[in-house]
Amino acid sequence: MPTTSANISDAYAGAILTIDLDAVIANFRLLSARLSGASMSAVVKADGYGLGAGPVAVALAGAGCGVFYVAHIEEGIVLRQALNDTGNSQFIKAEIHILGGLMANAENAYDASRLIPVLGSLDEIHNWKSYCHRLAQPLPCDIHVDTGMARLGLAANEVEKLVAEPSRLDGLNILTVLSHLACADEPNHPMNVEQLDAFRELRRRFPQGMASFANSSGIFLGPDYHFDQVRPGAALFGVAPVPGSLNPMSQVVKLQGKIAQVRAVDTPQTVGYGASHRVESPGRIATVMVGYADGFLRSLSNKGTGYIGNIPVPVVGRVSMDLITFDVTGVPEYLCPVGAMIDLIGPNNPVDQVAADAGTIGYEILTSLGHRYHRAYVGGALRSGET
Ligand SMILES: *Cc1c(COP(=O)(O)O)cnc(C)c1O
Repeated sequence: MPTTSANISDAYAGAILTIDLDAVIANFRLLSARLSGASMSAVVKADGYGLGAGPVAVALAGAGCGVFYVAHIEEGIVLRQALNDTGNSQFIKAEIHILGGLMANAENAYDASRLIPVLGSLDEIHNWKSYCHRLAQPLPCDIHVDTGMARLGLAANEVEKLVAEPSRLDGLNILTVLSHLACADEPNHPMNVEQLDAFRELRRRFPQGMASFANSSGIFLGPDYHFDQVRPGAALFGVAPVPGSLNPMSQVVKLQGKIAQVRAVDTPQTVGYGASHRVESPGRIATVMVGYADGFLRSLSNKGTGYIGNIPVPVVGRVSMDLITFDVTGVPEYLCPVGAMIDLIGPNNPVDQVAADAGTIGYEILTSLGHRYHRAYVGGALRSGET
């Protein structure tokens, strides 16, 4: 795991990131319960949305998840190792699919770690087919078809070619035909139905394997969108799948920053770089050992809110590389001594709230979480402190 602080006791940590694997499992089950017939997978790209692909996938495997998606081949190799290291035969058998597709000349590497490429172009299809042919082994693969992202996947004209020359798919062991929604987080967006129609039409022409369409938000568009397999990521990690509605997911992340100093201010003065905040009347400023280098985004300058227990404390001044400053004037002194913790992400300020304050989405808050935090995993198969 890319965790630099793993050996440092939380007594010395400037900040503690607690990842609740039981909450991840509860979210997996909640999503699963919305399906009738479709199967679950879990997207754990970008190191499990910043939370540690290994621990998260092992916890999910323990809850019965046998299909994982990552973006990069390197992520797949690392995840395969993490699952192998458990020694659990069920976990070792899990499928790992590579959304990024088939990298040129890397067929061996996929094969060696039993990674399943999500083939997204005629060239990729050709290359995988040739590799399988050489080995005389129909290794599994997926086909990604673009229905509205113009990003990865076969474009419409490439689909036409495949239909015209079906022999291009001969000998391929296609597990999944998948596509990805562009606007699933906006339930009323007309694009959702357009993509649904396009994907249904595509399935009429390519009925091979399973059909997989919905990401987290797509699951909440209803059963029409579920097909054979869903591919949630963010919702597993607590991000609201339907922005603006009550979030049914359990919060997975708690981030606490430690107060390094508390400063009494009794004459007007400014706080931090750029002197962007001015204290006019007597008050107290608490400095916490977290900064934008840790993924506490600089756009939270003068915008973010921390909590001491249930008492909100505003971020004042600019977020700097290693430090943030809070106005704790309204908090009794005994509640915010040096060494006390301020919740930066927690029950009062969940990921989506922090994202809104920063002008971004929960996905970016999670995947920005830094590597200087002391990471503590609770629940799941791992005990606190193991990484
Ligand atoms: C990231 C991704 C997902 C998961 O999306 P969430 O919105 O995090 O649920 C599913 N499918 C593809 C192709 C992706 O790139």
